[in-house]
Amino acid sequence: MQPVLAALRGIHKRYGDTVALAGVDLELRRGELLVLLGGNGAGKTTAIAILLGLLRADAGSVALFDGTPVQRAMRARVGAMLQTGGVPDTLRVAELLDLFGSYYPAPMPVAEAADLAGIGDLLQRPYRTLSGGQQRRVQFGLAVVGRPELLVLDEPTVGLDIEARHGFWERLRALVRAGTGVLLTTHWLEEAQALADRVAVLARGRVVAQDSLAGLQAADGLRRIACRTALAPARVAAWPGVVAVERGDDGLLTLQAADAEAVVRRLLERDPDLSDLEVRRTGLAERFLELTTEAA
Ligand code: ATP
Repeated sequence: MQPVLAALRGIHKRYGDTVALAGVDLELRRGELLVLLGGNGAGKTTAIAILLGLLRADAGSVALFDGTPVQRAMRARVGAMLQTGGVPDTLRVAELLDLFGSYYPAPMPVAEAADLAGIGDLLQRPYRTLSGGQQRRVQFGLAVVGRPELLVLDEPTVGLDIEARHGFWERLRALVRAGTGVLLTTHWLEEAQALADRVAVLARGRVVAQDSLAGLQAADGLRRIACRTALAPARVAAWPGVVAVERGDDGLLTLQAADAEAVVRRLLERDPDLSDLEVRRTGLAERFLELTTEAA
């Protein structure tokens, strides 16, 4: 197994009366991309700030490599892209890459970092004159220029158009293949699906699930069954294994069921005229909603 790069253990954090984190455990390994998925206010940014040593937890411990974020030598092995930029905006992109590289012991040459971030055409532009999406790409360049072993990205693709976003995903995957550990926050499921080796779902300051995408989807073993039938929803809802039933405006009956085979057999027995039968795994979107609603 790959070594652990960073870990949060039993982290609690409040802001006044607001509980932001209520006992969070997270672990990130080398060559792994962990997506921290959660809705607005779930605590993602707070968890990241604590991991980076920008914020102190009220309780719990943080490990960064073989030390803690208090140690500059540990922080120097991390690259970060946060929601608040904090970039001196009169400097040109090449100057910024050079400046940020100088904070690290063995930075990349400017051209290599620019290439990695896909900003080769922006090097001579003052940061201030760039569009929001271009600034975001430059921030990624600044996060990787120090050859970090761990990359922490807080909603990195906000403001990127589809093409830029897909390019970003590809670059990120290449870094992970080369061994970088990446912790990325998003509230966007498609992004988690495109990238994650593992997903930690954060809701109300707690990790309510932590698994691979496939594991997360299969965890409850639920299937979604749809069909056209004259059977009354209330009757079907009472069958064993049936979790939820709904009839859409189009007359289609949709149910979620734990024991799909038995439920399908029963549907066909009770309604010989049944048509348009479809069975599939519940999607990540449904699972995510379920998890976050349970937490609420
Ligand atoms: P988003 O997706 O909206 O960025 P998030 O998951 O990053 O949300 P956090 O920013 O960590 O969530 O916030 C967690 C909770 O803590 C929220 O209820 C937020 O209002 C609160 N909070 C965050 N920062 C502060 C602060 N400086 N002072 C007071 N409350 C705060």
